[in-house]
Formats: sequence, structure tokens, C-alpha cells
Amino acid sequence: MATQVFQSWGFVLREPHEALGLSSRHAPLPMPTGSGGTVLPFGNGRSYGDSNLNPGGALLLGAQLDRFIDFDPATGVLRCEGGVLLHTILKLIVPQGWFLPVTPGTQFVTVGGAIANDVHGKNHHLAGSFGNHVRCLELLRSDGTRRLCSPTEHTEWFDATIGGLGLTGLITWAEIQLKRVANPCMDSESIRFRSLEEFFELNAASERDFEYTVSWIDCAFEGKRLGRGLFNRANHAPAVIDTSRLPKGLPATLADTAKRVPLTPPISLINTLSLKSFNTLYFHKQWNDVERGLVHYRPFFYPLDALLEWNRIYGPKGFYQYQSVVPPERALATTRQMLQTIAHSGMGSFLAVLKQFGEPRSRGMLSFPQPGTTLALDFPNSGPKLMRLFDELDRIVLAAGGRLYPAKDGRIGAAIFQAGHPQWRAFSEFVDPRFSSGFWRRVTGQTSGQTSGHAAENP
Ligand SMILES: Cc1cc2nc3c(=O)[nH]c(=O)nc-3n(C[C@H](O)[C@H](O)[C@H](O)COP(=O)(O)OP(=O)(O)OC[C@H]3O[C@@H](n4cnc5c(N)ncnc54)[C@H](O)[C@@H]3O)c2cc1C
Repeated sequence: MATQVFQSWGFVLREPHEALGLSSRHAPLPMPTGSGGTVLPFGNGRSYGDSNLNPGGALLLGAQLDRFIDFDPATGVLRCEGGVLLHTILKLIVPQGWFLPVTPGTQFVTVGGAIANDVHGKNHHLAGSFGNHVRCLELLRSDGTRRLCSPTEHTEWFDATIGGLGLTGLITWAEIQLKRVANPCMDSESIRFRSLEEFFELNAASERDFEYTVSWIDCAFEGKRLGRGLFNRANHAPAVIDTSRLPKGLPATLADTAKRVPLTPPISLINTLSLKSFNTLYFHKQWNDVERGLVHYRPFFYPLDALLEWNRIYGPKGFYQYQSVVPPERALATTRQMLQTIAHSGMGSFLAVLKQFGEPRSRGMLSFPQPGTTLALDFPNSGPKLMRLFDELDRIVLAAGGRLYPAKDGRIGAAIFQAGHPQWRAFSEFVDPRFSSGFWRRVTGQTSGQTSGHAAENP
């Protein structure tokens, strides 16, 4: 039995697991050595909390299924195994004039992980989430059955598996519809805004003409500076670009030049003082209120990937991310209340993102995106003080009819999860009886020995 310590991206959870390798997508699932033990697929470990961990059980090393199966450059239909990284896909498709239909803020996630969390990107208002672009997938269950799931076949299994947190079985392969692009560049604008009202106005004015919108928001200040930030909007660049608009030294193709945080500092480098100074500098980083430019897609979509293992800057105690979404009718007042609460606490970090989700409906029964405003922030792990702040934020989000993102969570209780995801009980019918996770046991009130879900009937 190979035991290995796995940790969440935020470093706050570190647990030994039995690690089960996957030799081929055609092979049966390996099962843990002890009888009745549970398994969970593990992708590339980019989830922040325990939704990808299974303490006391085993992890299926999903990233080992990393082969392309088929790619048609005429139609942009790609079929690959569940462990292929988005980074690897981009290297294949961009030179052939294709791009991912939806991408999260890191390219180091697997296709299986992107489906299991039904990840969203900066184009949610037009494209919806990742699952909206999956044409079909194969689901392998612990009893050896395989289902081909799609919008027309085994639809209910398809909808349970998209955003299904890896609990419905292993996604051995999936087929995705890519989108056409003319080149690797983005035509992008950064606009300074000074209040939340201005953010919502800018967003309303941008959603139709800009495929991608996202904002950095300053969470450090109360009073007049509350709700200020930088609004970023962009489209893929057209076929003919004015190369004089490219920043100096930036070729249209960019080599992989990521740096690595060399060690974990003994204490977090983020504190109230450094946060306030950093945010002030960042807010004023651009000379004009509006700046326009051509950028390569990599710094545009994946700024954090330029610094590998950036999660170490929070020190050995690690950090939590808090990501919520609240419905549009309550968004302005609720976002203001959350920012006030955070600024008042003196906690939070530079990494604070505000984005408006749109109308496209996510297929997944447990998918996180819903129309409204999503706020995502990192917080250095400062123990009970931080947990009290989170409790307060939870109350604000739930009172507004919102929910929290499981991929970013490592602490919420059953009541918060179940109120935000009322379909959880219907979903639990699709959970494979041998699959479980630390997150799932916590939010459904099970102990680690218990499993849930129905035994699979024949496909
Ligand atoms: C810097 C950064 C930026 C991010 N930005 C965004 C963002 O903009 N939008 C967003 O939505 N998310 C974002 N995320 C979160 C990230 O996209 C998700 O957590 C993603 O699911 C991680 O994929 P992974 O391959 O690392 O899988 P893991 O984190 O290892 O696992 C994620 C889930 O997928 C399941 N899983 C993995 N492989 C399979 C498989 N083959 N079959 C079935 N289930 C499987 C696991 O059981 C688990 O439930 C970001 C994360 C980071 C670190």
C-alpha cells in the first residue's frame, strides 16, 4: 500500500492517503486495500480546501490519465483523458487557431477537475461554465460499469457529474468543443473605478461587447476608498493586429517563463500594513484611468501561473480562499456589506476578485455559478479570528440567497452548504457508494467510515 501525504492548495489541510495509480483508461478502478474504504479522484490539486481530499481513505491519481485521444482541427472537437492539463491542451490548440471555451485563473488544472468543479472563467456572462462545452464523457463506477454521458444520453448522470465534485465516479475521458481564435493575443482594457456603483455601471456597459470581464477590488479600505478597483475587459485579438501595440519585448508567442517561490517563509508575507501599501500602489499602477493594450493570453488569463507555488507566500499556516456568489437584485448592497466587514477586520489579501456571472445556466446539479456577483478573496490563516470573520460573511451571503464555492472551501458546515445547494439531496442519489471526500462528509454530516449514494444499476 503506497501512502502519501496530500495537501490542499491553501496548505491548511495535510493528510496521509492511500495513493492508487491509474494505469490506463481501459483498466478497472483500483480499490483500497481495507474492505469498505472509499476513494476519490485527485486531479492536479488546485482546489483550495478538502473537496479533493479523502482523509482516512484513498485517492485515485486521475492526472495519470494524460493522453490525447482525438483532435479535429477543422471542427475544434477535442477528446482527451481526464488527467490532461489545460496547459497541455493550450499548447496543442492555440497554434492551430483554437482556444478553451472556458478557462479558470490557472491552466494547471486537469480536464477531470475542470468538469468536477464545473469551473468558470472571465467569460461566464456569455459562455457559462466549463460543463456547458462538454459534448460527452465516460464515467467509470466502482462496480466496473461505464456510462457514456452527454446532453442526450444518460443525461441525469451527465448533470450529476458536471460539478459533481468527483463523487459520481471517475471521468476517464471527455470530449470538449473548443472555440476559434485568430492568434494568441488579447485586446484588453483596464479601467480604474472608484466605487461599487461605478463597477456595476461599467459591467453593464461592457457585457455585450466584451467577451471577458473581471475586476480586481481593493478590500483593504473602508470609507471613501471602499469598493474601488480596476475593471478589466477584453476580446480575443482580431486576425490582423497592429504589432506596435504589443508591449516592448513581448512576442506574439510567449515562452514558458514561470518563476518559482523558492521556499516557504516562516511567517505570512501578507499582513494589514503590506496589504494597504500594496493595494494603494496597485490601484495607481496605471497612469491613466483607462489603459488599452495587446497582451498574450497567458498573462491575461493566468497572471498567477507566472509565479509557481505562489501559495507558499502565506507561510506554513497557509491560507483560505472565500468565494461567494449572490443574486443580482441583492448584489450591490451585499457586496458593500461584505467589503465593509472585511476591511473592518483588517484581514484579507491583495488577491481579491469581483465578477458578474451571467444568465447562461450551468448544467450541473451542484454547479456553483448562478446569475449574480461573485467575490473571491484569499485570507492568511490567522486561526479563530478568521473563522469568526467567515461566520459573519456566511451570514451575509446566506441572507442574500447566495452560496459558497466548494472548490475553494475547507471549513463550511452542513447548514451553509445545504442552504446554498438545495439540490444536494437529489444529487446524493448519484454518488458512487465507494466514493467520498472530506468535504462531502462534512457538509452532509457523515462520519469518515460512512458512504452515501446508491449502488449503480446497469448502464
Ligand atoms: C490560481 C488558481 C486560480 C483559480 N481560478 C479559478 C477560476 O477562475 N474559476 C474556477 O472555477 N476555479 C478556479 N480555481 C479552482 C480550480 O480551477 C478548481 O479547483 C479545479 O477543479 C482544480 O482542478 P484539478 O485538476 O487541480 O483537480 P483537483 O483540485 O485535484 O480536484 C478537483 C475535483 O475534481 C475531481 N476530479 C479530478 N479528476 C477527476 C476525474 N478524472 N474524474 C472525476 N473527478 C475528478 C476531484 O475529486 C475533486 O472533487 C483556481 C485555482 C487556482 C489555484
